[in-house]
Amino acid sequence: MAAQNPPLHVIVLGAGIIGLQTAVFLLEAGYKVTVVAKNLPGDVDLEYTSPRAGAHWRTQATANEIELAQWDRETYEYWLSVVAREEASRRDGFGVGDSGLKVCVHYKPEAEGWSLTAAALPRILLLVKTHTSGFGGRGLMPKPPRDGPNPEISQGAQSIWWRNVVLNFKVLDPSVLPEGVYFGVTYSSFCINPPTYLSHLVRQIETAGGTIHRLEIPTKGGLGAAMAAVTDAVSSEPPFAIVNATGLGAMALGDKNMFPTKGQTILVSNESPVIRIRIGDGDPRVDPELSQEIVERCKELAPDILNPDGEFEIVSEQVGFRPSRSGGPRVELEGVLSARGEKPLIVVHCYGHSGAGYQSSVGSAKKVLRLLEEQKMQGTAEIRERVG
Ligand SMILES: Cc1cc2nc3c(=O)[nH]c(=O)nc-3n(C[C@H](O)[C@H](O)[C@H](O)COP(=O)(O)OP(=O)(O)OC[C@H]3O[C@@H](n4cnc5c(N)ncnc54)[C@H](O)[C@@H]3O)c2cc1C
Repeated sequence: MAAQNPPLHVIVLGAGIIGLQTAVFLLEAGYKVTVVAKNLPGDVDLEYTSPRAGAHWRTQATANEIELAQWDRETYEYWLSVVAREEASRRDGFGVGDSGLKVCVHYKPEAEGWSLTAAALPRILLLVKTHTSGFGGRGLMPKPPRDGPNPEISQGAQSIWWRNVVLNFKVLDPSVLPEGVYFGVTYSSFCINPPTYLSHLVRQIETAGGTIHRLEIPTKGGLGAAMAAVTDAVSSEPPFAIVNATGLGAMALGDKNMFPTKGQTILVSNESPVIRIRIGDGDPRVDPELSQEIVERCKELAPDILNPDGEFEIVSEQVGFRPSRSGGPRVELEGVLSARGEKPLIVVHCYGHSGAGYQSSVGSAKKVLRLLEEQKMQGTAEIRERVG
C-alpha cells in the first residue's frame, strides 16, 4: 500500500479485540493511529468483553451470510500465517511471537442428547503446539432443533460452507460416533488465550508507532458529542476518521439494536481440550448450578486433567457479556455531525460481533480499512476536481 505523507490520522475508540486488530491493520497501511479506551488489556470490567472470551474459531456464519463467512475465512487464513511465522521463528532459535494462538482439532458432533465419552472421541491431534497456555478445543454444538435437522448439515458435509476453508476437514465414520450422535467431523481449528492475544496486539501497535490512551468518553450527549470529545481529547486537528469499536459501549452511544448475551466460563489448571457454550440470562453473577453442569460435562470429556479426587483444579469462574446486535455486526461508514455543527466527522462503526468477535476480527478489520481507503480515494478525487 502506498505510504502516506504525512500519514492520515485515525483514532480508534475501543481496545477490545476489534479495536486492537483494526489498529494493527491501519498502522500496516500507513495511517497514524491513536487508540483511546476506557478499558485496556489487563483490566477486569463486566463491560469489557474481550478478556472474558473462550475463545476459539468455530464459525457461526451460515452459507447465506456471505460477508460474515468471508470475515471468518479471512481470520482463519490470517491466524494460520501467524502460527506458521511463530513456528518458523522458534525453529530458527528466536523464540519470539507469543500470540497465544494455537491450532487444535475441533470435534463437531450433532446429537440429540450429546452425551459423549472421551473413549469414543477420535485421537486429538495437535498440529502445532505452542509453549503458551491456552484452551485446547473440541467444540460442542447445541442440540439440533426438534423441528428439523441443523440447517448447517442439511445435506451432510456438502452443505458445510467452511469445509474447504479449514485444514484437515474429515467426516467421521458413523462407527466411531458415540451413541446418539448422528454426524461428526473433525478439523483443525484455533484456540486462543485471550489476554495473551490482546497483549500481543498491543505490542504490535506500539512497535508500529501507534499510541494507546486510557480515557472514558462521555456518552450522554449522543454520538456526535462523543466523537467531538474523542477528537478534542487526542488532537488539536480533526482526525481523518474515527473507528467506533466500543462493543457493548455502542448501547450508550444510541444503538438500540445492541444487547448483551451472557456467557459463563471456567478456567481450570492444565490444558483442557473442552469448550462448552450456552447462552444465559443477564445476571452478572456466576450461576453455581450452571458451573456444576459445565464441570460435570467436562469431566466426561477431559478425564486426563482431573486431580486424584476426580475433580478439576478450578482457577476461576467468570461471566462475560457478548456485544450482540439484532441484524448482526455493524461495520459501516457514517458522516457524523459533531455537536458544534462543523464539517461531518468520518466515523467507521465496527461493533456488535456478539460471540464471534475473535474469529471475525481480521475480516471485519480489513473491511474498515477498505472503507477508509475508498474514502481516501474519494477525498483525493474531490481535491483534484477543485484544483482543476
Ligand atoms: C463467554 C464468552 C465466550 C466467547 N467465546 C468466543 C469464541 O470462542 N470465539 C469468538 O470469536 N468470540 C467469542 N466471544 C465473543 C468475543 O469475546 C466478543 O465478540 C469480542 O470480545 C468483542 O470485542 P469488542 O472489541 O467489540 O468489545 P470489547 O472487548 O468489549 O471492547 C470494547 C472497548 O470499547 C471501550 N469503550 C466502550 N465505551 C467506551 C467509552 N464511552 N469511552 C471509552 N472507551 C469505551 C471499552 O473500554 C473497550 O476497550 C466470547 C464472548 C464471551 C463473553
